Amino acid sequence: MRIPEETVERIRQSVDILEVINDFVSLKKRGSNYIACCPFHNEKTPSFNVNPTRQIYKCFGCGKAGDAVRFVMDIENIGYGESLRYLAKKYGIEIEEEEQTPEEFLRQNERESLLIVLNFAKTFFQETLLNTDEGKSIGLSYFRERGFTNPTIDAFELGYTLDQWDALLQEGQRRGYSRDLLEKAGLILIKEGNAGAIVKYLTGFGAGSCSPFITCRAGSLPWGPDFKNR
Ligand SMILES: [Zn+2]
Repeated sequence: MRIPEETVERIRQSVDILEVINDFVSLKKRGSNYIACCPFHNEKTPSFNVNPTRQIYKCFGCGKAGDAVRFVMDIENIGYGESLRYLAKKYGIEIEEEEQTPEEFLRQNERESLLIVLNFAKTFFQETLLNTDEGKSIGLSYFRERGFTNPTIDAFELGYTLDQWDALLQEGQRRGYSRDLLEKAGLILIKEGNAGAIVKYLTGFGAGSCSPFITCRAGSLPWGPDFKNR
């Protein structure tokens, strides 16, 4: 079943991100924003920020960010459609679902899965940059040398891939993402060779002499994958 576009719009218009997030963490006002300890990673001092004017949230610790729909997806670990249904229920909006053809259903499902897995990869690379020794000593120091400040690194959601070819695959599979899905999302590249399947992985933007590669994403959709043979 599909939620009609007008209903999606109505849900988006009705949602107040502060109310949505307050159901999960209690927000405190700071200046024009609201803050809390991040519900997505462990921390003692709050780095989770909500901007009510722009109706978005952003954690400066782990990089999770988005709007109310994304927040519900992440916190409840559900897809886009389910998140909209959750919000519709919260705001008493009735959804008259439209029948979907089997092809539409498959396409939408796949799109949702791809967005979820790309978002996982983005966060994984960001966490690698900020929270691993290699990420900090190579990736972060590279960005610093280039004069990138923390807000720039946050704004462009820069990340780092370890010099360990299957780190993303391992973590992805640990979280239940199949190798097929990771491949479909362009995050790994599977090559059949004499010795069986060889898995290569996405490295994103090459960063000059800074190897391993640094990944970069801008805009609301994840980066276009760019394979580099290593
Ligand atoms: Zn966080």
